[in-house]
Amino acid sequence: MRFSEFPNSKAIMILTCMDPRSNPYEFWKLPFGPGIIRNAGGRATGDALRSMRVLSIIMANGHNTLGAVAVVHHTDCGLYHGPNFSDEFIKGKLAERVPELAKEVEKMELGSFAE
Ligand SMILES: [Zn+2]
Repeated sequence: MRFSEFPNSKAIMILTCMDPRSNPYEFWKLPFGPGIIRNAGGRATGDALRSMRVLSIIMANGHNTLGAVAVVHHTDCGLYHGPNFSDEFIKGKLAERVPELAKEVEKMELGSFAE
């Protein structure tokens, strides 16, 4: 099936975490998932937003539209563990692995959350 022939005229895009315990195909009973974006923590990062914009334009080129975006989080997310997996902790570990890139690592926003 061509993407422009997708039968749902008001498709929903799902932004969710990449955690393998959280499977959007399973909990939404989706037949396929071109509109699923997964990243660490299900964060609306610059690249996630870019993908949404691209998909909305591609869909509008056919007879479909992007109807809504559902942001789906889950319990026990790896990025939701306060100081144990804070941005600073993760950046510190990354900088240890690639000390030559420590300055670039320090600028990163990893999206961890404490509440
Ligand atoms: Zn998660």
